[in-house]
Amino acid sequence: MGELVERLGLGLPGGAVVVDPDVTAAYRRDMAGFCAAGEPAVVVFPETVEQVQHVLRTATELRVPVVPQGARTGLSGAANAVDGCVVLSMVKMNRILELDPVNRIAVVEPGVVNAELSRAAAKSGLAYPPDPSSWESCTIGGNIGTGAGGLCCVKYGVTSEYVLGLDVVLADGRLLSTGRRTAKGVAGYDLTRLFVGSEGTLGVVVRAVLALRPAPAPQLALAAEFPSADAAGAAVCEVMARGLTPSLMELMDATTVRAVNELGRMGLPESTRALLLVAFDGPDRVAELARTAGLCREAGATEVVPAEDQAESDLLLEARRLALPALDRLGTTMIDDVAVPRSRLAEMLNGVGAIAERHGLTIGVVSHAGDGNTHPIVIFDASDEEQTARAQLSFDEIMALGLELGGTITGEHGVGLLKRDWLARELGPVGLDLQRQVKAVFDPLGILNPGKMV
Ligand SMILES: Cc1cc2nc3c(=O)[nH]c(=O)nc-3n(C[C@H](O)[C@H](O)[C@H](O)COP(=O)(O)OP(=O)(O)OC[C@H]3O[C@@H](n4cnc5c(N)ncnc54)[C@H](O)[C@@H]3O)c2cc1C
Repeated sequence: MGELVERLGLGLPGGAVVVDPDVTAAYRRDMAGFCAAGEPAVVVFPETVEQVQHVLRTATELRVPVVPQGARTGLSGAANAVDGCVVLSMVKMNRILELDPVNRIAVVEPGVVNAELSRAAAKSGLAYPPDPSSWESCTIGGNIGTGAGGLCCVKYGVTSEYVLGLDVVLADGRLLSTGRRTAKGVAGYDLTRLFVGSEGTLGVVVRAVLALRPAPAPQLALAAEFPSADAAGAAVCEVMARGLTPSLMELMDATTVRAVNELGRMGLPESTRALLLVAFDGPDRVAELARTAGLCREAGATEVVPAEDQAESDLLLEARRLALPALDRLGTTMIDDVAVPRSRLAEMLNGVGAIAERHGLTIGVVSHAGDGNTHPIVIFDASDEEQTARAQLSFDEIMALGLELGGTITGEHGVGLLKRDWLARELGPVGLDLQRQVKAVFDPLGILNPGKMV
């Protein structure tokens, strides 16, 4: 360890190499539960590309694992330290280098916080659409690492659709530039997309060229209450089948609605089995909202409340913002992230209900319904071993159900440590073998975020 720290210090400024165990302990894990976390040997905070290259060259020479980290808001253990590793925190590389309204791009360092980029883009009448709920704290590097999604992705798509080009430091310290700054470009294999969602296992992103869009108009929302998941699922299908393009389409189940009522005194009817929130931000949003209200009623909604203006919309959407904190108050939570074709959303919700009943547990479900992306949140008492085991079992059964319904084990949170065993089930032996070969091409010594994803 002495040699490692000494060598790192040769290419990093004073204060950028931290070995104090009280400090390094804080960098052991992200926000996922039930994932092992090792003890880092050292945490480093580079501020330049050359410093990142120095860290990786040193790690390669000494055969020491490196775990890249952003803000550690991840929910899969992908940023967790492994024993004796260098934690490579990218938070100090946090400059927005360029905002170019003509080419509609931003060039940023990876430690830029998502919301800061959004606010900076807004000043030029532009938007960076991917909007994870953690946007006030998560970083662009972490968003690229996980391929993050968010609330508006039903209309605008996820992170991968906005990453045009990357500068990446490879495991041996070489600097790779992928992709482009142009609106179009198809030269060579698409290595840029390969890095999106690679969870720090293929290289360290040190700069990103991101696509921006014109800033949309403020959203106009409605809330619709349904007596069953089937009715709510039917409404989601109808809205999409009729060619409407909501900018947000979120669904909360009865458990979540009750919890939100308790936290926010929202006055939502306790009889609600499913609450659908739909918003539009296009020029025809008033008409689209009215059409959606009609479709919800036809699908069996017991009440539909369309907002008249943005203030009313914000009030309706507040219920969604309160969902996770409201469920967190009920006990220890384990948040799942299973996406199914949206036509099978109701089956997924009913299936999760059956799993909760079978295991005698409370599971609240919040969904990006327009994407078929569900977040079943298993609630349990972590001091009760037997209940904890039931919670873990139901977490697994939820993923099995998602695969059965033609879905995926993770819509946006990633594989990390939490779902590593399940990735093999989703990919199959050929898929897994090829993914491992890809990893070996980029990182033949296996020093980058070892034990994660593949
Ligand atoms: C309250 C809450 C709400 C959330 N809501 C959403 C949501 O709506 N949608 C969603 O998708 N996620 C959500 N998340 C999960 C999390 O915020 C995202 O996964 C986010 O993208 C992680 O960013 P981060 O900066 O915290 O990265 P970290 O957690 O630090 O790292 C995530 C992964 O990226 C890798 N990484 C980080 N920086 C780099 C880099 N520069 N180069 C290479 N690899 C790197 C890490 O090794 C790790 O594998 C939520 C989390 C919380 C706590």
